[in-house]
Amino acid sequence: MESNATFKGLIILGAKKWFAENKSPEEFETFVKAFPENEREYWTKAKVMPISKIPASMYVNLYKIICTMWSDELFQKIGGAVALNDLGTILRIFIKIGTPSFTAKSFPNSYKQYFNVGEFKTISMTSNSAEFELIGAEPYGQAGCSGILGWSRMALEYAGAKQLTIDHSECLNRGKKHCVFKYAWE
Ligand SMILES: [Zn+2]
Repeated sequence: MESNATFKGLIILGAKKWFAENKSPEEFETFVKAFPENEREYWTKAKVMPISKIPASMYVNLYKIICTMWSDELFQKIGGAVALNDLGTILRIFIKIGTPSFTAKSFPNSYKQYFNVGEFKTISMTSNSAEFELIGAEPYGQAGCSGILGWSRMALEYAGAKQLTIDHSECLNRGKKHCVFKYAWE
């Protein structure tokens, strides 16, 4: 299926860094070999820029491969590492970290820094909760939802959210009508 959906090189760069710090070179090699040949060069050649636009199909492959070799939990962990990497550096001018609710307000904009298709839309916001709907992000599938879960958890914890709970039981990828993300913290 042809799709013009892309994701930013930021994710590849963050994942690469995470692998360098957490997995052996042998494991990384096995991981890279699991990709179709035309996608392996994104990992092996240093031509990926933070703003590079990479086809969404590779993001979906990244998710599938990590889930096969490890788990969805690990994919979310890498999403968190990407957030930690970017919030203090390249995205600092786009995404201001303040209180958790101040930070949550920037989530729709944060989403756009990584994905060109779909919208992370604010439904409601209080000083200790926030609710969003992910719309039109089908090309990213479960990979989109899991990446958002890991990234947003880290961003809110980085902003000082305590007792953070995230509810994503309403998910298109689990047969529900919408993708809803509900956050609550103290
Ligand atoms: Zn979902």
